[in-house]
Amino acid sequence: MTLHEVTALLDAEGIGARGGWLKMECWQPTGSFKIRGIGRLCETARRDGAKRLVSSSGGNAGMAAAWAGRRLGLAVTVVVPTTTPAHVVERLQKLGAGVQVAGSIWDEADAVARELAGEAGSFYVSPFDHPEIWAGHATLIDEVVARGVQPDGVVVSVGGGGLLCGIVEGMQRAGWTEVPVYAVETHGAASMAAALAADAPVTIDAITTLATTLGSRRVADRAVALAREQPVRSVLVSDHEAVTACARFLDTHRTLVEPACGASLAALAAGRIPAERPLIVVCGGSGVTRAQLETWETSCATEAVA
Ligand SMILES: *Cc1c(COP(=O)(O)O)cnc(C)c1O
Repeated sequence: MTLHEVTALLDAEGIGARGGWLKMECWQPTGSFKIRGIGRLCETARRDGAKRLVSSSGGNAGMAAAWAGRRLGLAVTVVVPTTTPAHVVERLQKLGAGVQVAGSIWDEADAVARELAGEAGSFYVSPFDHPEIWAGHATLIDEVVARGVQPDGVVVSVGGGGLLCGIVEGMQRAGWTEVPVYAVETHGAASMAAALAADAPVTIDAITTLATTLGSRRVADRAVALAREQPVRSVLVSDHEAVTACARFLDTHRTLVEPACGASLAALAAGRIPAERPLIVVCGGSGVTRAQLETWETSCATEAVA
């Protein structure tokens, strides 16, 4: 069974590129690419006898786990901190997941999730750090290859680096080993930038961005290791640029995406991607509404002026 959809590949014209393509992962069933890798990991867990999936993500990874569990007939528990908005809890419950509130920050919820996953028949679903997740995300590149498309750069947003690991795996399989990967983050979530500068995983002090989906203080070791095999360049954008790119994308493509995704679109629009025919992973994200985007636009505009 495959839990994800083959997504559209659109012309990148109009985003600021001279050419290139948009891989529309925003149109996956749960609104982001996450279902590719998490779906694959959950299928593996079921094959190995798991009866219950346990996630600690109130974001797109938790959504993907809830969706996968429902399709696979497995129980899903998502442990989230007390700060999680009610609409997020509701949405997970609508997908059939049991939501347990524990801890005031994500690290505490995650510790509880890992403990629960220690029970017989339960399986911990990491948001980004597992070879099956990377193998699942790699199918995105397989689809581009199947279309006969050959980009001269690949643009991806980076949180914990799971998407980047999958993309590089797919690129290596395609023989695109010289093609640069542009790893985009906002200034307030620059853990990949720090790791690339140090050539080692680095834990950054704090996350100070509204693109919370990119807010991993440390990237997966694998992401740093792959940057030694493939050219990976760091690109940073401001929250204001990311949010503006989301608003623009809504107008041009009638599709709402999170600032985590807007970051990649912004990097292109700002001319920070030197490729002529880049492939942009439009990673999507469901943690956004029209009203929320407007609120962010207002708060960022103030910051940009200040
Ligand atoms: C998870 C996610 C990211 C970051 O992916 P990582 O694998 O954590 O690097 C970026 N954008 C969206 C919309 C996501 O859901």
